[in-house]
Amino acid sequence: MANLLWLQGGACSGNTMSFLNAEEPSACDLVTDFGINVLWHPSLGLELGDNVKTLLQDCVSGKIPLDIFVFEGTVVNAPNGSGNWNRFCGRPMKDWVKELSDAAQFVVAIGDCATWGGIPAMAPNPSESVGLQFLKRDAGGSLGTGFKSKAGLPVINIPGCPAHPDWVTQILVAAASGRGGGHRFHQSVSRVAGRGLAFRDPARCGSGWWCGSVYGCRQGRSSQPGQAPGQRLR
Ligand code: SF4
Repeated sequence: MANLLWLQGGACSGNTMSFLNAEEPSACDLVTDFGINVLWHPSLGLELGDNVKTLLQDCVSGKIPLDIFVFEGTVVNAPNGSGNWNRFCGRPMKDWVKELSDAAQFVVAIGDCATWGGIPAMAPNPSESVGLQFLKRDAGGSLGTGFKSKAGLPVINIPGCPAHPDWVTQILVAAASGRGGGHRFHQSVSRVAGRGLAFRDPARCGSGWWCGSVYGCRQGRSSQPGQAPGQRLR
């Protein structure tokens, strides 16, 4: 059983809608066949008010093991870096994001907004939005360049506006089924999804393995027509 928590920041819920349209596997399959326990989701969670806050606090403290923390939308820092334009459960969402990311085995950014800022981060960016570990092409984002989750990985980015439904569910299955762990995770997800994921970490993604993502590995090894997943470029 893998505990999954999903929160939204500066988001339109498009990635949630995409997730609910997944087919291989479906969102229901994650629960019934792949042992994912959805602790809470803004559209699916049963808890309200203080009960959500208690759940989040228990995840931060470790009372509830947090295996996968999913974030959709930007991290909002306005006004003036305070994050008060996006408060949740009594405090700025950006503070929950930091603490929950530190507590999680895997952190997954879903959609362009969460990965690099997306539409909300366009100039003049009044919400002071950033992605979890990127702002546009610049590394850093909300969590910083050096961030690693407990499993030793940077944020797992699934870009797209919204992200493809099956990229989301297949990558969540890979994480929940224990196939996490650097390059091995990259290979397993490429094989399972047949599509790319973007770690945006050259040290881990510079292996030369095929990655079909538009926003994939930054090592100059973009996908080429006719190449199969797992095929080396050179
Ligand atoms: S990435 Fe696109 S679909 Fe997802 S929250 Fe942002 S604007 Fe909406």
